[in-house]
This record gives sequence, C-alpha cells and structure tokens, in this order.
Amino acid sequence: MSQTAFSRSFDKELDFKQLLKLRGITVTLDQEDYGLSQAERAWMRGDLLCPSCRCDGASLVRSDVAKPGSRNTRQAHFRFIDVLGLTAHKLGCDFYALDDLPGVQKGVDVEFTANDKDTKLVRELVCKAISIGELSKTNIFEMRTWFLGLKAANTFVVTSTPAMVDWLWAVHRSGVYGEIKFEPFHHGLPGFGARRAAYRDLAFHYRDYTKQFPRVPFSADARDRAKRIVRAKQGQNLIAMESLRPQFEATAQLAHLMAEYGELPFTKTKVFGGPWGDIPEALSAFSAALLFVSGWDMNTALARFTKILAAPPPEDLTLGNVMGLNPFHDFAALEVLRFMTGLPAESERTYDFDAEMAAVLTKIEAARPD
Ligand SMILES: [Zn+2]
Repeated sequence: MSQTAFSRSFDKELDFKQLLKLRGITVTLDQEDYGLSQAERAWMRGDLLCPSCRCDGASLVRSDVAKPGSRNTRQAHFRFIDVLGLTAHKLGCDFYALDDLPGVQKGVDVEFTANDKDTKLVRELVCKAISIGELSKTNIFEMRTWFLGLKAANTFVVTSTPAMVDWLWAVHRSGVYGEIKFEPFHHGLPGFGARRAAYRDLAFHYRDYTKQFPRVPFSADARDRAKRIVRAKQGQNLIAMESLRPQFEATAQLAHLMAEYGELPFTKTKVFGGPWGDIPEALSAFSAALLFVSGWDMNTALARFTKILAAPPPEDLTLGNVMGLNPFHDFAALEVLRFMTGLPAESERTYDFDAEMAAVLTKIEAARPD
C-alpha cells in the first residue's frame, strides 16, 4: 500500500491529494472510485509509477467511509497491479509483500487507522523543505534509487524449511538459562533440575550458532513470519538486510528526533525495534531523504530539519512528497533466513528440537547416581 506515487508527467513523487490538485480534478468522496472518469483512470495507469521500485499499473483506491464509533478506516492509496491482476512490485520494493502467494493479492490494502492527517503533516514538511532548497525532488528520486540498488546488490537464496525455522527458534530460546555442558556431578547439587540442565546442555552444544546469530529479536512473531516467507519464496532471492542496518538505524533515530524535538502531532506511531521506541512510520522516508542529502550525518540532517520547521508553509503544496519507506520491514525474519543459509540442508540432518531434548534428558537420567 503506497500513499504516494511517482508521476512521470510531473516528474515528482506525489500523494493522491497533490496529484488530483495538479490534474485539476474535483473528486466525489462518497462515490465509488471518487467518480473518476475512465480517461482519468487510464491517464493514471499510464503515468504513475511505484515511488520505490518504479513498477507501473497504478490505480487509486479510495478511502473507506468511517463507521460510527470506529477509527479504523482505510486511507486513500495507490495500488500497483500487473496485467494478470497480481502485485507488480519488484523484490526490494518497500511495498513488496513477502508472504504473498502467487495469485493472491494480500497485505496491500490492509485495514488501518486513517492517517490523512499524518500524510498532510509530511506533505507540508516536504513542500517546505523543497521551497527553501533543503531537499529537491531529484534528491528524493535519487534516495529511492540508491536504496533499491543497495538492496538489489545484497541478496541471498532462501534454502530453509518451516521445520528448520521452528528448530532454530527452539535452539535460540534454549539459551535463556545460559549455556553449560552437563556433567554427572551436577546431580549432587541440591537444586539441580534435569529439564533446565537439558536446555543448558543444548545451548552449550549449539554455542557457535548463538554467537553467530544476527543481532535481531527472534520473537515468536518473527518465527511465524519467517515460516510464511519460506513457504512463499522457497528457492528465490530475498534481501540481506544487515548491509542496510546503519542507514535504517539512522533513519529511525532521526525520525524519532524530528517527532520529539519538532513536537510533531502524529496520530500513528509504530515500533521499529531498537532503542528508539515509537517512531511515526509516515516520517521514515522523509527522514531517510534528509540523511541521504546530509551524507548520513545525524546533526547535519537535524540542522536541515530545524530550518525546515522554522520556514513558513509555501503557497504551493504540490511541490512533492516522500512517504512509505519501511526500513525495518521484516528485518528480523529476513536476517534469520539469511543466517539459516549457513545450516546443513534438511536432507543432511534432522531438525527436531523435541527429539534432541528427549535424548539429552535420557543422557542426564542415565547419569543419575543410584
Ligand atoms: Zn514497488
């Protein structure tokens, strides 16, 4: 789901309100498809590209009418579909849905709280930035291209299976009690328990894995996400996220600083992970663009933001926009899967954590003194 699109005619990234204004169109909000003419729809399909991967096949999806008592509505957005009606986004695109099954359009127009207000906030900031020369539409285009190129240059082939993901998750979790090799004399200690001892013994056995494990939170959610991706993308190329970590972390930090120091009243925040807490998702692409033109230096980018914040709103609010960079999109699940390319194939060994636990418990029980 993209809140902006790149217009070839206007040569810039625009949200739907900016686009309609530039096209001189008045829309009928309560009508299906805004009452847009066939000709206008055809123009959009021919002109608009995905702001991230430049795929075509755009259509405008109208927002839902809010139900009484519910804040959960769908914001108007752009959808990109190929001739077969499937998602047109390319690998590495911020809007590429990793667990899409072939032929199923999913994760594209999910329900979410309407945040037209957030789009407006970002639109004003971007237009101010462009009007005072702190950012240009060319910079935005180059930032998008740079991210896409970096992702394309860092890929791996998915080799693991859902059973391997379950196994690795259990191995990873076994380290919660710390690692120590079991020795029979442990039985003599008054508080000794076989089950915890078995976890510790397995954690010791797999200590090399634990040390090499990527620096990501391997939650149950990340495990389930990794399994869905494995099912949908077996044998295919995916993005190795680690190479992007410095830029992603800087993007999240600057977005957080801008929201906090700028006292920006965003309605929608999202936890990206890391030490920064809630970060307005809507700001991430703008944050990345400011860092991109500042050589990824935090204070240089924050200084730009300070000037932008102080500038008066420009007369023209169609100068451009930049939204929808989703830097931590599946970071943990993708990193886990990349790590798993180093594990032996399922044909070479069994991945059954419960069986391994049972074997260790048998070993511990066998060592119990009579
Ligand atoms: Zn795309």
